[in-house]
Amino acid sequence: MAKIVCVLYPDPVDGQPTIYPRDDVPVLDTYPGGQSLPTPHALDFTPGQLLGSVSGELGLRAFLEGLGHVLVVTADKDGPSSTFERELVDAEIVISQPFWPAYLTADRVAKAPNLKLAITAGIGSDHVDLQAAIDGGITVAEVTFSNSISVSEHVVMMILSLVRNYIPSYQWVVRGGWNIADCVSRAYDVEGMTVGTVGAGRIGSAVLRRLKPFDVDLHYTDRHRLPDDVETDLGLTYHDSVQSLVAVCDVVTINAPLHPETEGMFDDDLIGSMKRGSYIVNTARGKICDRDAIVRALESGQLAGYAGDVWFPQPAPSDHPWRTMAHHGMTPHVSGTTLSAQARYAAGVREILECWFERRPIRDDYLIVDGGRLAGAGAHSYSPGDATRGSEPTP
Ligand code: NDP
Repeated sequence: MAKIVCVLYPDPVDGQPTIYPRDDVPVLDTYPGGQSLPTPHALDFTPGQLLGSVSGELGLRAFLEGLGHVLVVTADKDGPSSTFERELVDAEIVISQPFWPAYLTADRVAKAPNLKLAITAGIGSDHVDLQAAIDGGITVAEVTFSNSISVSEHVVMMILSLVRNYIPSYQWVVRGGWNIADCVSRAYDVEGMTVGTVGAGRIGSAVLRRLKPFDVDLHYTDRHRLPDDVETDLGLTYHDSVQSLVAVCDVVTINAPLHPETEGMFDDDLIGSMKRGSYIVNTARGKICDRDAIVRALESGQLAGYAGDVWFPQPAPSDHPWRTMAHHGMTPHVSGTTLSAQARYAAGVREILECWFERRPIRDDYLIVDGGRLAGAGAHSYSPGDATRGSEPTP
């Protein structure tokens, strides 16, 4: 019998929905490039239902209790007296979503001697101290690709809404105004702009593909270069450094994991080297950008806009400056947790759990840490070390 602690975001303020705006979600055959979708033996939920909040339980309760395991689900995750920290002490498995991360710090790992598996319901396992997981022999797995396209759609939406000044224009309508000059004095077309991505993995590449029809000049930087045919097909210009990329871009989108190489990457110096009036869209991780440098750059006009859905810590405190800074288009961390995405990553979590209990290997694509080292997808995208440092801000 195993104890599984699952940390999920709170239910909607009016309770779990009983009716949804749509009756179904599209059924996908494969991910772009051919990776198969999750293949659990069975599902105990209807795709399109809210699964990522506490009452949704990722659709796991019947399955886990049917096997005789104990499932604890909570949203109470921060601080030493939280339910998460209390329940962790004898847990074998922890499940958490990046949207409402249960920070699995080295301290917490030390308090959880039975912990063997940490599953990220989604993508991005930086809320786990990966070095502590490596040292402690804990397997870390995530549901690679489950919400990559979801995020890429959010990125395109945010680029268009910043450049075209959508949110302030919408607000004029709500306020009863018809203030065209106010709306358009910060509005441009995206056509003809230079757009670059830091990281051209699953999300970054999907963003590039989606932007191609907008007739923009597409650039990227990554640790590994894309195949020639992809570069040619999309008309991409490769940069061997982020400095070289940002110097030529009007819009920069960040699609690299948070790890020691990327933590604090967008600081005063790098932002200062961008074209005046650039836009940044960051749906990767909040700590890739220096919080206060972003605020300063928006105030000075060095940046014309900043949008994204990732913060540090999460949930962001009510006085986080990104809530009130100039010319921002922030959302809470939602891009990867649409109802469509939840169905995929809930199914992926179930697949991982089935593998674990049946002692079958977890797909390489899902592994981040295994056997005391970075493994599978993690070996490709992360570097050893702890970029999270628990719930502490970047010094
Ligand atoms: P991938 O692993 O497919 O792609 C990440 C890419 O970033 C890889 O190509 C990787 O390089 C590259 N990279 C790593 N370090 C650097 C660096 N220092 N400079 C430039 N590129 C770098 O992941 P995804 O595209 O699926 O996801 C990317 C990130 O987006 C996740 O790690 C997560 O943090 C975030 N995310 C956010 C979500 C949200 O809801 N907002 C949801 C899902 C993900 P290479 O592999 O070539 O070494």
